[in-house]
Amino acid sequence: MNKRNFLKSGILLLAASLFRTPQAQASEDLDQWEPDDQQATGPFTLPPLPYATDALEPHFDKMTMEIHHGRHHNAYVTNLNKAVTGTAFASMSIEAMMAAITTKDNVALRNNGGGHYNHSLFWNLLSPKGGGQPSGDLAKAIDAKFGSFDKFKEAFSAEGVGRFGSGWAWLMLSSKGELVLGSTANQDNPLMAKINKKQVGTPILALDVWEHAYYLKYQNKRADYIKAFWNLVNWEEVSKRYAAAKG
Ligand code: MN
Repeated sequence: MNKRNFLKSGILLLAASLFRTPQAQASEDLDQWEPDDQQATGPFTLPPLPYATDALEPHFDKMTMEIHHGRHHNAYVTNLNKAVTGTAFASMSIEAMMAAITTKDNVALRNNGGGHYNHSLFWNLLSPKGGGQPSGDLAKAIDAKFGSFDKFKEAFSAEGVGRFGSGWAWLMLSSKGELVLGSTANQDNPLMAKINKKQVGTPILALDVWEHAYYLKYQNKRADYIKAFWNLVNWEEVSKRYAAAKG
């Protein structure tokens, strides 16, 4: 090979590698979900799911979990980080922020702060080994308040079905130490005591009833999604939250 041919073949190799690399990369990426391309920079970060995106199948499908966590939750984190910049909330925990926020604050703080808190909680209340019924103190408290576990399930489900538009259903512990059911609109939650004056307490169990949580698999059948949710509830985690809130 003379010098000229050597250079030519070198350039061809270089060109081939330049073209091949992005294609190879793209085909590898097809097998892996990519979170929203906007990455969180700021005090808040997207927590990883405590299980694989397909671990909640068949009740919550893989694609819904990928989009719900990787895109929706990630967008709340990204937009929250933008919204807190230069405010007193930037140095607070998310729980402290929820308790401090008022209707006079920028609505982006309320929506994205609530979105981040609610989803971070929600993922941990679900488990591939979930379902069944609670035991111990929580079971006793549910029976005492609602009459039976089945009656509790019915009443909690009704909060979710009855929420018009987007929002959340809640089981919370009131400041009087009582279990209370409720629902909130959008990304509001019971920690926002200065905003939701009638729905205040420590969240024990939460259910996302936004269409993005179920539409791919259940379309308009929110009640079917809620039925499936009961197969995933992580009662161990719910009981821990109850015990901690009870003090
Ligand atoms: Mn959601």
